[in-house]
Amino acid sequence: MAVAADSQIVVLLGPPGAGKGTQAQRLAANLGIPQFASGDILRAAVKAGTPLGVKAKSLMDSGALVPDDVILGIMKEALASPQATRGAILDGVVRTVPQAEGLEQMLDSLGRPLNAVLLFDVPEEELVKRLSSRMVCEGCQTPFMGREPGDTCEKCGGTLVRRKDDEPDAVRNRLAVYKRQTAPVIEWYRTHGVPVRQIDATGTVDAVTARVLRALGK
Ligand code: AMP
Repeated sequence: MAVAADSQIVVLLGPPGAGKGTQAQRLAANLGIPQFASGDILRAAVKAGTPLGVKAKSLMDSGALVPDDVILGIMKEALASPQATRGAILDGVVRTVPQAEGLEQMLDSLGRPLNAVLLFDVPEEELVKRLSSRMVCEGCQTPFMGREPGDTCEKCGGTLVRRKDDEPDAVRNRLAVYKRQTAPVIEWYRTHGVPVRQIDATGTVDAVTARVLRALGK
């Protein structure tokens, strides 16, 4: 696979509900590179009832992480895909230190740099508020606030549902999992010489997009 000279690999880190998915979509459109969201890939596998989906479902429903080897397989496929020649936004793809190590090895072997790690910062009470009032489109996964289950998605005509892992018990678990397993990734990058750029992810979606683009020098 020929990698473009201006290829950009960007990792988005941050707790659930921080707006990584929303900003990843905008960033992907702005930079003209694909967004890979491991959560979306896993939810599609669950919906399709593939062996991967069957393996992942109960872990995802409870807010636990799926095993690192599964995620490393998803990463490998994403980076090898033809759309990724100009780069990729990796949204929620790195959630443990072994995953960060695995990504580093993959990029090293492909001779591709990791261009940026962005950390989305939102206070915990705001995250709980956002997740408990979030609906997502069953079809295109777009998140919506202030809507009801069963409403129609303006983007694709799909039905809005509450994600099972946005129920209160699963939310509590996901935040605990983030602190225990994902927060150490921030320190891992810092000690491996990769600057982690912290983004204030509160305020309007447009304001956050402007901060993200500024952090990338755009
Ligand atoms: P998300 O849509 O990013 O909130 O992900 C939903 C769920 O998918 C997570 O709570 C995990 O169960 C699983 N998942 C997504 N990405 C990862 C990852 N990188 N490592 C482990 N589990 C993941």
